[in-house]
Amino acid sequence: IKLTNIEVPIPVNFGPAFEGETIRKGDTYVEFGGGKTTAFELVRMIGPDEVVDGKITVIGPEIDAIPEGTRLPLGIMVDIYGRKMQEDFEGVLERRIHYFTNYGEGIWHVAQRDLCWVRISKDARSKGFLVKHIGELLLAKFRQEFPAIVDRIQITIMTDQAAVEENIVKARERYRARDARLKTLTDESVEEFYSCLLCQSFAPNHVCIITPERVGLCGAVSWLDAKAAYEITPTGPNQPITKGIAIDDIRGMWQTCNDYLRPASNNTLEEVNLYTLMDKPMTSCGCFEAIMAIVPEVNGLMITTREHSGMTPCGMTFSTLAGTVGGGLQTPGFMGIGRSYLVSKKFIPADGGIARIVWMPKELKEFLCEDFIQRSLDEGLGEDFIDKIADESIGISVEEIMPFLEENGHPCYSLESLI
Ligand code: SF4
Ligand code: ZN
Repeated sequence: IKLTNIEVPIPVNFGPAFEGETIRKGDTYVEFGGGKTTAFELVRMIGPDEVVDGKITVIGPEIDAIPEGTRLPLGIMVDIYGRKMQEDFEGVLERRIHYFTNYGEGIWHVAQRDLCWVRISKDARSKGFLVKHIGELLLAKFRQEFPAIVDRIQITIMTDQAAVEENIVKARERYRARDARLKTLTDESVEEFYSCLLCQSFAPNHVCIITPERVGLCGAVSWLDAKAAYEITPTGPNQPITKGIAIDDIRGMWQTCNDYLRPASNNTLEEVNLYTLMDKPMTSCGCFEAIMAIVPEVNGLMITTREHSGMTPCGMTFSTLAGTVGGGLQTPGFMGIGRSYLVSKKFIPADGGIARIVWMPKELKEFLCEDFIQRSLDEGLGEDFIDKIADESIGISVEEIMPFLEENGHPCYSLESLI
């Protein structure tokens, strides 16, 4: 018999009540990832002989051995063996790391994969919290919530730079394999889209609709993930939406999506377009990897990311934008997105697609690089289109970037008017 009510053996309070808690820099004892140190998290399916059930290993310094204010690298590796486990479930279980760690009082987690960012508060540390307790809480929650899949589980937490670097390579291979499998699917080739209501715990009316070519805005839930999550928990937060015939092919409106959206958004939303940010766009919760905003002066749009703290040409930083756009509202002209949506063929086709992009941080350009160039070629924008897009080195205001866009013959000027 598997227990359903497990006491989590950690020295801080634990539960969904702490999910929305943020930990400010000044209250932080130790910080991991967030672009400042190397970090990753990975759930792997492994064979029965490779796992010692219940084992938690810490490789590297424990946080009682480091001074307040330290930044450490981090690797969280969750190995699962289960007769009913599938590789397609890995991504779904991995996303749960975000929710489970946030359940700990004084533990804060954002983003995912090799972008994850974790803080442990001074308060939690003073109560005796250690990184091994991240292992304890993950162990308890994975066993509790996925008893049908998890037969054996072991967890490794790494704070050692060399160990993190060695294992992040394996993690990235796994991420790539998952992404490659998804690339063979298109919105046209499937019968169903999937919903995600996971973020309703933060943003009660927020509904993500996930298609093969549009990842959830957190970047962590792909169509395959949503499908797998539905298979694991048929009554869970991911439900199939049978597509049927589109009301509007270009803007991406389906009757079935609207029918789903109304009750799922607690009757706050009537309709949604999946392929535009200008008219009834998808709502944004709070965990988008990037935000797009229109720049009407140049008939284009800009994108900034959670990792980019600087000012942008729309006059707002990421955090100010996030405050404006988030919370589960439709905000025409603004939208939270997953990074990989930028290289999707279904990236706002109704608004002109990637040709609209006039500004994005350098780091995002580098992150997308190869795929973005391929997309530029596919769209007939040329291999060098990425160089026609301004970034913070060109300027951080419309006035600063306008001459650059004009000189480089940016396509935004020849597109249909946005508003
Ligand atoms: Fe699900 Fe969307 Fe939240 Fe991601 S952002 S967990 S896809 S509701
Ligand atoms: Zn969210």
